[in-house]
Amino acid sequence: MLPEFRNEPFSQFSHPDVRAQMIAAIEAVKREQDNKYPLYIDGEAITTEKLIESINPSRKEEIVGRVYEGTAEHAQRAIAGAARAFTWWSKKSFAERARYLFKAAAIMRRRKFELSATMVLEAGKTWAEADADTAEAIDFLEFYAREAIRLGEPQPLTRIREEDNELYYIPLGVGAIITPWNFPLAILTGMTTSAIVAGNTVVLKPAMQTPVIAAKFMEVMKEAGVPAGVIQFVPGAGETVGEALVDHPQTRFISFTGSRRIGCRIYERAAKVQPGQIWLKRVIAEMGGKDAIVVDEHADLDDAARQIVASAFHFAGQKCSACSRAILHESIYDEMVERLLAITKDLRVGEAENADSQVGPVIDEGAFQKVMSYIEIGQGEGTLLCGGKPASEHGYFIEPTIFGDVQPTARIAQEEIFGPVLALIKAGSFEEAIDIANGTDYGLTGSVFSRDRDHLEYARVNFQVGNLYFNRKSTGALVGVHPFGGFNMSGTDSKAGGRDYLLQFTQAKAVSERL
Ligand code: NAP
Repeated sequence: MLPEFRNEPFSQFSHPDVRAQMIAAIEAVKREQDNKYPLYIDGEAITTEKLIESINPSRKEEIVGRVYEGTAEHAQRAIAGAARAFTWWSKKSFAERARYLFKAAAIMRRRKFELSATMVLEAGKTWAEADADTAEAIDFLEFYAREAIRLGEPQPLTRIREEDNELYYIPLGVGAIITPWNFPLAILTGMTTSAIVAGNTVVLKPAMQTPVIAAKFMEVMKEAGVPAGVIQFVPGAGETVGEALVDHPQTRFISFTGSRRIGCRIYERAAKVQPGQIWLKRVIAEMGGKDAIVVDEHADLDDAARQIVASAFHFAGQKCSACSRAILHESIYDEMVERLLAITKDLRVGEAENADSQVGPVIDEGAFQKVMSYIEIGQGEGTLLCGGKPASEHGYFIEPTIFGDVQPTARIAQEEIFGPVLALIKAGSFEEAIDIANGTDYGLTGSVFSRDRDHLEYARVNFQVGNLYFNRKSTGALVGVHPFGGFNMSGTDSKAGGRDYLLQFTQAKAVSERL
């Protein structure tokens, strides 16, 4: 019998053997810098005229690998192939499709250090962050495979004597999978394999910043035996490949994770019924956040400060769940500032490949410029308490930055910065703190630190976010444990890693036979 789902354990890097394996994996991935990875369409490896260069954000001069860049024409060919593959892949049983995911999970476990090392170098993830990303990818495979088996079981219906009734979940068709760079293996794996295990075929377009780890995902899926045409791999730019996928009349659904701006654009374009299109496209769009941690006057302040710093600055604040606003009761504000500054100043900022780095670089030049421009805006909106400067010129490093006395309506308290910048906001009461927390267009994650049961219950009802945490950080959702997704401009609340997730890639068919 299938063992119950369990989250993949994190690697213990304090153990010398584990540490040695990771060091060896990083060295091995560095030697792959001349590798060139192809597109895959109908199982055929395809090279093109142009290459995407993947750069190590910790060392701007260092290339991690190159991936052939696809065009809008490749996207169209890939959709046509996926539509052909759909005719037979959609007819396979859930249990059969699930077996490919179990196999892929086993392969990822074997290649764990290599995959994590690739993200250390390509995405600037610290060892622990990269390891958690790989573990989450494995979790998604194991979890969605089990969910598929559950969906394939007979569905409970009310019985009537004169009829035999059944309800089946059947797949939708060809999906466009458009993924972000910040969880370049976990989110990509979850979005792609949930769709295929439900019986759809897909065209995968990864983010331009992290194509090498995406190409390695394809290697894993090929090794797992996923048949040609089921996952078509077309790396390339959002404006070309992405838009061609979104606009195509044979695209049945779009599964997107990324920024609010692009998510809204995709939602709008997908709504247009193209000539020859015979359905309304379904859009699953998981977007940005402006996540807040509220600390009241009854909280354990040491713990709150530690968790805020971890939520705000790990992976340089580049998580959709990162804390970018700390909303502090006025009576503990000064004490919290002191604690936050003490912990933040001790953070070790450095190259992701160094085992003891706690904060790595931001992803690229564009991100660096954007974050620095918000820091400039912040100087006019609050008091710069720490950081505010680039941390090293070799890579895209920015000092962990805290602004104090920020107004809830300030731009740095409203707009997603996606970097190591934290705004501190004062509140006169707990209710006011929750109002401030709710006062943005987003609604992804939030935390409350309090030992007051009434406050926690008030927040349980009134704090409008998809993932609400009490007395813990706002990051680090686990598959199966914390189904993930947000409200409002944070997206369609798809609850990745939860029991409802696969339903989004299916439609239900009820069959009634009169007896
Ligand atoms: P992004 O700039 O929106 O890009 C996401 C993906 O969309 C990339 O593959 C991108 O391709 C593609 N794209 C760009 N323009 C497009 C277009 N016109 N049509 C179709 N596709 C297009 O986001 P990102 O910078 O990669 O990721 C960071 C964002 O993701 C943040 O806002 C973060 O909060 C959000 N996020 C949300 C969640 C969640 O679960 N809610 C999880 C992770 C991240 P290119 O690479 O060519 O730009």
